[in-house]
Amino acid sequence: MAITTGTLYIISAPSGAGKTSLVKALVDSEAQIRVSVSHTTRAMRPGEEEGVNYHFVAREQFHTMIDNSDLLEHAEVFGNLYGTSQAWVEQTLADGFDLILEIDWQGAQQVRHLMPQSKSIFILPPTQEALRHRLTNRGQDSGEIIEQRMREAVSEMSHYVEYDYLLINDDFAHALSDLKAVFRANQLLQKSQQQRHRGLLSELLA
Ligand code: 5GP
Repeated sequence: MAITTGTLYIISAPSGAGKTSLVKALVDSEAQIRVSVSHTTRAMRPGEEEGVNYHFVAREQFHTMIDNSDLLEHAEVFGNLYGTSQAWVEQTLADGFDLILEIDWQGAQQVRHLMPQSKSIFILPPTQEALRHRLTNRGQDSGEIIEQRMREAVSEMSHYVEYDYLLINDDFAHALSDLKAVFRANQLLQKSQQQRHRGLLSELLA
């Protein structure tokens, strides 16, 4: 059994803010952090892999998961269903890993309610222009679709006030260092350190 249970982190951002790249860089450098792979009903995009980016499921299967209470949270985002496996989250935290959920503001509200000890982080782009540039560069979408994405991004960003931490991704290295600082500070909380260093503490205080 793990000495200490991990911390659950919620990370949200409008699409185009660089959330996924930051989370990947964080997880690649920190062995004790895991990322949840969500279930979704949306179609797989080129370059995505089943079980890596998402578990891609049919709507019917998703509804069965809801009915069986398999999901810790779920939400409809841009017409598709997304959800987080409850059993996987519980097991990963019990194994002592810190765990990241990359979810939208609706899922974040549900998780905060169920697990008030979780920490939440919102990532913002540095400017509207930078966001528009990133959304434009992504693919061959029409101007109309890009404007729609911009509106959705603004709507997502309006929820930043609900989060514990606010990061601005103006420079990748800087934002990554801010993200690492959030995780490190939480690992150093007295209660976590007490569990981790029980032997040392009893020796020092003998
Ligand atoms: P995308 O389809 O571009 O990968 O993600 C679209 C949106 O769905 C993003 O805001 C992302 O954070 C959110 N999302 C991804 N997985 C989940 C999930 O399991 N639950 C919730 N509530 N939102 C999710």
